[in-house]
Amino acid sequence: MLKIYNTLTKKLEKFKPLGKEVKIYSCGPTVYDFPHIGNYRAFVFVDILKRYLLYKNYKVKHVMNITDVDDKIIKKVKESGKALREITSFYEQEFKKGLEELNCIPADFYPRATEHIPQICSLIQKLLDKGYAYLAEDGVYYRIKKFKDYGKLSGIKKEYLRDGSRVAVQEYSKEQASDFVLWKRYTEEDGNIFWEPDFLIGGKKIKVRGRPGWHIECSAMSMHYLGESFDIHVGGVDLIFPHHENEIAQSEAATGKKFVKYWLHNEHLLVEGKKMSKSLGNYFTLKDLLEKGYKGNEIRLVFLGCHYRKQLNFKISELDAARESLKKIVNTIQRIEEVKTRTQKSLRRFLLRYKKNFERAMDLDLDTSKALAVFFEFIREVNKKIDANELGKKEAKEVLFLIFDFDEVFGLGLKRIYEESKIKEIPLEVKKLVEEREKARKMKNFELADIIREKIKKLGFWVDDTKDGPKIRKIK
Ligand code: AMP
Ligand code: ZN
Repeated sequence: MLKIYNTLTKKLEKFKPLGKEVKIYSCGPTVYDFPHIGNYRAFVFVDILKRYLLYKNYKVKHVMNITDVDDKIIKKVKESGKALREITSFYEQEFKKGLEELNCIPADFYPRATEHIPQICSLIQKLLDKGYAYLAEDGVYYRIKKFKDYGKLSGIKKEYLRDGSRVAVQEYSKEQASDFVLWKRYTEEDGNIFWEPDFLIGGKKIKVRGRPGWHIECSAMSMHYLGESFDIHVGGVDLIFPHHENEIAQSEAATGKKFVKYWLHNEHLLVEGKKMSKSLGNYFTLKDLLEKGYKGNEIRLVFLGCHYRKQLNFKISELDAARESLKKIVNTIQRIEEVKTRTQKSLRRFLLRYKKNFERAMDLDLDTSKALAVFFEFIREVNKKIDANELGKKEAKEVLFLIFDFDEVFGLGLKRIYEESKIKEIPLEVKKLVEEREKARKMKNFELADIIREKIKKLGFWVDDTKDGPKIRKIK
């Protein structure tokens, strides 16, 4: 039974989805620059959660937003003289390439804020109608004091917000300094980036030229794709307050329903004890590390080595260690493939023990660090069995199956690496023939494809046509 730590209740809770499909929303990137690997820790975390739910045979629907309008983006637009869309689509593509590099399963939807202005405005209208929002000089604001449950996620006190705030109320012409913006009124700084919706306020239609605030975007888009109540909301701990607190205030005030059942937050990636961030300048982008020759799965393995609710102090040397560990795993897989021993010794209990230990670790709040320890112990034990000639050919297949099963959750791409390592041993001549045969097949020239297959066979290889493309193997 999977248990996860819920920031809302501050307890480890049994996971029970609301419906047949597990609905997950995770806060995505602001697309004004290359994400750093701290950001990717958050994105890999939601991927692990998703993979484990899939492993447990749940159906999953995952939405990750793309924040494609905000102050930083507008600043970049001004500096570069480029159009907003040109900048945001470039960084959005870079972000997605990064996800692919880290072997993350793509989300089902990546909604962009700028493409959901009607949904955002209609949510703001609901809040205006119910008295949770008001129009001020520089935009539409959320009235915190009206929402009784404000602070239930972060523990922040409404009184603290009122009295303890250092911002002068008059400065913002807001009712309360901590009231947050839902719709930012246009200023010259915004250039040509604005929308001009009508809000119905006090029976009058009022045009408010401007753009959405950050918090409302996540409430509007999550509910649009997942419904008014859904299962899991994910983000880094820095988002608990104010972002997620405000999302709850907006959504629950508008619908009168519980917004999210489980709130999961990953801890930060640190560099020399400080949060990796753009503003501190202590960051590596994924691109930096790939250019240094590191691979996505090495970075992923470093993330997995630390429980998501613990801070992870990032060191380059750990990537080198991860590379060595991956080599050991791939080498073991190769050894397993080469097993020729015939034995009747069943491995059922051995395999079951490791599967159970792995699941026990993951079931306890997705403890990838423990699950990896189980996995490495398994790899060591398998090597010992091979050394002692105790692993039979038939059982070897089951061992391999379990390794790939674990990797469905870890997402290190072991199957792919292994297949690729096999391909390297294939002579160039054979590879070329396989390519030619693929072309022939695509042209539906199956006669030619068969002739080429025979040629390949004469060279000692066989091609299987699978849904993932041709698989080459040596004829034994
Ligand atoms: P942003 O683009 O800044 O909104 O961040 C995207 C995601 O990355 C959010 O879930 C953040 O909480 C998360 N995040 C930002 N910095 C770090 C960090 N150093 N370690 C882990 N997660 C982070
Ligand atoms: Zn968000």
